[in-house]
Amino acid sequence: MAYAPTKWNLGELYAGFASPELQGAFDNVEEQVMSFEGVRGKLNPDIDPNQFMEIVRASEETTRIINKIYAFTGLSFSSDTQDQVAQTYMARVQQFAAQMQNRVLFFSLWWKELDDRNAERLMSAAGDYRYYLEEMRHFKPHTLSEPEEKVINIKDVTGSGALITLYDAITNRYVFKLDVNGETKELTRGQLMAFVQGSDPDLRAKAYQELYRVYAEDGNILGQMYQTRARDWYNENIELRKFANPISARNLGNDIPDEAVDALLEVARKNTKIFQRYFKLKAKQLGMQQLRRYDIYAPIANSDKKFDYNDATKTVFESFNSFAPQLAEMAQRVFDQEHVDSEVRKGKRDGAFCWSVLPDMTPYVLLNYQGRARDVATMAHELGHAIHAMLAAHHSAFTWHSSLPLAETASTFGEMMLTDKLLAEEKDESVRRDLLFKQIDDAYATIMRQSYFALFEKQAHDMIQKNASVNDLSAAYMENLKEQFGDSVELSDEFKWEWVSIPHIYHTPFYVYAYAFGQLLVLSLYQQFKAEGEAFKPKYLKILSAGGSEAPAKILSDAGIDIRSAKFWQGGFDVLDKLVSELERL
Ligand SMILES: [Zn+2]
Repeated sequence: MAYAPTKWNLGELYAGFASPELQGAFDNVEEQVMSFEGVRGKLNPDIDPNQFMEIVRASEETTRIINKIYAFTGLSFSSDTQDQVAQTYMARVQQFAAQMQNRVLFFSLWWKELDDRNAERLMSAAGDYRYYLEEMRHFKPHTLSEPEEKVINIKDVTGSGALITLYDAITNRYVFKLDVNGETKELTRGQLMAFVQGSDPDLRAKAYQELYRVYAEDGNILGQMYQTRARDWYNENIELRKFANPISARNLGNDIPDEAVDALLEVARKNTKIFQRYFKLKAKQLGMQQLRRYDIYAPIANSDKKFDYNDATKTVFESFNSFAPQLAEMAQRVFDQEHVDSEVRKGKRDGAFCWSVLPDMTPYVLLNYQGRARDVATMAHELGHAIHAMLAAHHSAFTWHSSLPLAETASTFGEMMLTDKLLAEEKDESVRRDLLFKQIDDAYATIMRQSYFALFEKQAHDMIQKNASVNDLSAAYMENLKEQFGDSVELSDEFKWEWVSIPHIYHTPFYVYAYAFGQLLVLSLYQQFKAEGEAFKPKYLKILSAGGSEAPAKILSDAGIDIRSAKFWQGGFDVLDKLVSELERL
């Protein structure tokens, strides 16, 4: 079968916004929530395990419908962001979900309050739902009373939630101007940033200068918003919920022990030399004395090799197939069920993602396929996500989705297998070199850059509590960059505004270390794969098929990995060290 770039078919979810099934789904959720409210009186410490599981399954059923509504709305919106109906539904669904959540809040509060002995009695009968229930109880020491929790939920909508919406509204409106071939172009941030990966050194510099010129104009306001966000985080998580540190609140949500995150960030700090060596090497390749910060993503060769879409799908399937035929079959199923939206269209969302809706439904994948090597890698990446979800399909809707730090395992692993395959087949030396350098560029961007963002967040949250000004924070950010780059890269002053341009640190404080976590994990898994061959495969498939049914530390310790040990994280950096050494020899 030959594949061509297409639009997806959402019919398996709902026929359309006007379909009676979709309207019925809203009513259905309302009815289920109303009946769920009725169980309030039945919740007592010696509740029968069967009755308890009925309640859990009822709540799963509601979650399944909400997931479907959410997915249909989100996917429709992604495929046409200008569609007014989809836009309106997005807001409606968010509001609806929040309201429903507040009405069933009593259940999770009761569950967290329950004594250990009875909780253990119920969990031991919960089968696959056990970890979901256990994880909820981790928050017991940090949970407030029902009225307090409700007040926080409601005030967040107009408080920190609104602050972030404003940050997005302000920064999404920015227009960037760039002179290209004597013509002044007005660009979005995404379009502007394409030039920093381009081969013209002058445009790379101008693109960054323009980016931070615009952000610096609002630097004080954006900086104040960040201060407010950090204070809100402190007030809620430290003052009210009694977490030990600002980052601990995120760690518990990820179910990663504080020591593991500390170990990861410390080891990253000790390994800055690897990328510094790489940047020096890259300067030589580009014929420069020293790399400027503007040049770190510059291409090494100007390979404009294009990959036909059908060939790309075949290459990706073959790469999965060489690991296990089962994986290739799953990848192919995503295409055959028309769950891929790959064509480039006006109004369609940029970039790529995989959306797994329900354990028993083939995930949906969005791509914007333009035939570059990067697009083939993205295809392998997103299909990796889909395969991960499909391998875990035997779990409940509460336990099949892997937690954040493990979420990038199959996707990154899939990309690495593909790169190996492309390298093995590529005859053109310049294309090969480009592929190798791109691999390290990406590793820098996901590992070191994100680790240093996290280190900055830790410092900034601390400084803000001690009344640091926006300028103090900018100065601290420059120090952070200096430590990261050493003498390998020339830094210019405008980068002091980079921190106000990172949406993640506003939206989801301390989210970013999960990227470094995932990529380092995969580097060491991939190393094991190369060393052990066939023997590695069942171990890897077991990690993926666990989904989110166990704590990440447990899933990984079953595979012989100790995320608390500095040695494990160093192993990931050792792989990079070797790759850079190989490039140095080339
Ligand atoms: Zn991903």
